[in-house]
Amino acid sequence: MPDSLPPQRTQVAIIGAGPAGLILAQLLHQHGVDNVILEAKDRGYVEARIRAGVLEQGTVDLLHQIGAGERLAREALVHDSFELRVDRQRHIIKIQDLAGAPMTVYGQQEVVKDLIALRVEKQREQVLFDAPVLHIADPAGERPSVVYEHGGQRHTLIADVIVAADGFHGVGRNTIPNSMLKQYQRDYPFAWLGIMADVAPSADHVIYSRHTDGLGMLSMRSPTLSRLYLQVDRGATREQWPDERIWEHLHRRLAADDGWRLNEGPIIEFSVAPIKAFVAEPMRYGRLFLAGDAAHIVPPTGAKGLNLAVRDVQVLAPALAALIKDNDSRLADKYSEQCLKHVWWAEYFSCWMTELVHTADDPMAQALALAELRTVISRRGAQTLLAENYVGVSARPPASVTASETLARLT
Ligand SMILES: Cc1cc2nc3c(=O)[nH]c(=O)nc-3n(C[C@H](O)[C@H](O)[C@H](O)COP(=O)(O)OP(=O)(O)OC[C@H]3O[C@@H](n4cnc5c(N)ncnc54)[C@H](O)[C@@H]3O)c2cc1C
Repeated sequence: MPDSLPPQRTQVAIIGAGPAGLILAQLLHQHGVDNVILEAKDRGYVEARIRAGVLEQGTVDLLHQIGAGERLAREALVHDSFELRVDRQRHIIKIQDLAGAPMTVYGQQEVVKDLIALRVEKQREQVLFDAPVLHIADPAGERPSVVYEHGGQRHTLIADVIVAADGFHGVGRNTIPNSMLKQYQRDYPFAWLGIMADVAPSADHVIYSRHTDGLGMLSMRSPTLSRLYLQVDRGATREQWPDERIWEHLHRRLAADDGWRLNEGPIIEFSVAPIKAFVAEPMRYGRLFLAGDAAHIVPPTGAKGLNLAVRDVQVLAPALAALIKDNDSRLADKYSEQCLKHVWWAEYFSCWMTELVHTADDPMAQALALAELRTVISRRGAQTLLAENYVGVSARPPASVTASETLARLT
């Protein structure tokens, strides 16, 4: 492949057009910092990728603040509670009353669509799709660059700073020498089988049901789309889980004594995702910064993954603006330390909630988790703590966006 094109230049090269990369680009745009987004996949693929869907209020506020909240305000479902089921009994956790904030249901792919439309159609800026980054050169030096492929040619983009918002399997984290990274990982012995069903949700809030066969969970993406999950073995396949078996398990695991009924509908999407927790620290190597899933993965119980990615870039944007525009590195130097506080909070909460609602092989762990769950549902204090962590109020960074506001808070 020819490599003869002259190098291009920008202030921030962002790898990845997931939520982290797209929101960072928008925040940098508000700070007047030039940036280029390089995305390996095509636009249609990125906009159709079904993943998370439960947004903390801090994420919703930020989407409004950057101008990407118009459709969300019209179409999202706002929940003031969620439900825990155990022993076929229903326990409503009133998050709005207990923690003072709701949770908003709006699919990640819709967030991504809105952000791309804002950048491409409204601002007439580019997202370079079909542009996989192959290599990051000199990340710790003064002139880092990325080498990417696009239109059958190899290109070089020189930047002041490179942000790897390229997900767990991206190139960014792997560019950092092993000796400079500490990596923590926990692989759970189970996976989540997820389906999207073309049927109205059977409840107006999310339900986590702990059952002896494993977790059964009801979520939703719209008034006509249900998102349902089952705890299954790692490596479970579609062949092992035909539609009838999926529905039979969902009915059994979500059953309640008060006659509650689960609506069935055509399955329009099926996936199996292994459950893991992962953190790489620090989240910076020289002029290369990691954000979102590139630096950390949480188990999906508790819906923190997307919200965590958003928090990272909320911290990163003013830090990069100060670094690039004022040559002031104080915020950038605190970026990793600052983020790791909310990252470890989210890891703790997501792992705790995972163990609370899933079944385990170890009978002692099983009995302890059940005892804890029964304590949570019977004590207002325990419910309040759960609700605060669920909506994320305890760890949300204030919505300040200027570097001086952030610095004043940190010093
Ligand atoms: C199957 C699945 C289900 C999930 N369900 C939930 C859920 O229910 N709730 C929840 O909170 N979280 C969930 N998550 C997690 C949540 O979706 C992520 O935390 C979120 O996507 C993180 O955003 P991100 O921008 O950091 O990374 P991503 O969304 O992964 O975006 C990274 C982007 O980088 C691109 N990229 C990768 N390599 C390169 C390269 N070399 N060059 C250029 N571009 C590259 C990718 O194509 C991608 O578009 C789920 C994740 C998965 C995988």
